[in-house]
Amino acid sequence: MKLYVIGIGPGGEEQMTLRAVRALEKCDCVAGYGLYLDLIEPLLAGKERIQTGMMREVERCTAARDAALEGRTVAVISSGDAGVYGMAGLMFEVCAGHPEIDIEVVPGVTAACAGGAVLGSPLTCDFAAISLSDLLTPWETIEKRVRCAAEGDLCIALYNPASKRRTDHLQRVCDILLDVQPPETVCGLVRNIGREGERFTLTTLAQLRDTPVDMLTTVFVGNRSTKVIGGRMVTPRGYRGV
Ligand code: SAH
Repeated sequence: MKLYVIGIGPGGEEQMTLRAVRALEKCDCVAGYGLYLDLIEPLLAGKERIQTGMMREVERCTAARDAALEGRTVAVISSGDAGVYGMAGLMFEVCAGHPEIDIEVVPGVTAACAGGAVLGSPLTCDFAAISLSDLLTPWETIEKRVRCAAEGDLCIALYNPASKRRTDHLQRVCDILLDVQPPETVCGLVRNIGREGERFTLTTLAQLRDTPVDMLTTVFVGNRSTKVIGGRMVTPRGYRGV
């Protein structure tokens, strides 16, 4: 029995890897959040859908597992990469008692990579990815991770920088970063990566604090070497002589 967990990349069909497209072709049943299924609509013709809302992940994964147990070839879809704040881990947990299900995780282009490419090359060297959602992680843990990343002078990709319920998380995180990093640290924001309305903004850490963000945005915080070159955000690799 086969179950694919597929990262579809940040946007529509053209952001998918060929492997993801091929895996999806083999499936007759697809589970995912409605918005993501809509993004790849042309590839889903004739396939059964298991569609649930944003916060119904466990329900969705359980339904996908049950469809696989009934003999269907199922794809569970995540945006970006399924292993980065996606469905892959949960799928393994939900299928723990069913060794007969062979889970294949198909990697996708995560927002840090896709958004990094839009900005230029902000994550050239060591970096951290940190989600500011405290739905599944205590806020104190998030604050600690942010502080440690800043102390390590890591570039940071901030996922889930805000939601309708949490509007001040980015501000609180910037205050922690500003304890450690200079206010002129180069930062970038990318909204709707790979989708209609894609837009990027360059800013500084001091200004980022008061920049409104939403859940369709990924925020990039540079390290002490990050610069703006030709209007793009670049963390130099460190080659001499350039
Ligand atoms: N599995 C996804 C991440 C899901 S968490 C991945 O690997 O990319 C959801 C967060 O990811 C969003 O709040 C946003 O910060 C980021 N994100 C995902 N897709 C995005 C896109 N197309 N444009 C901008 N940010 C995106």
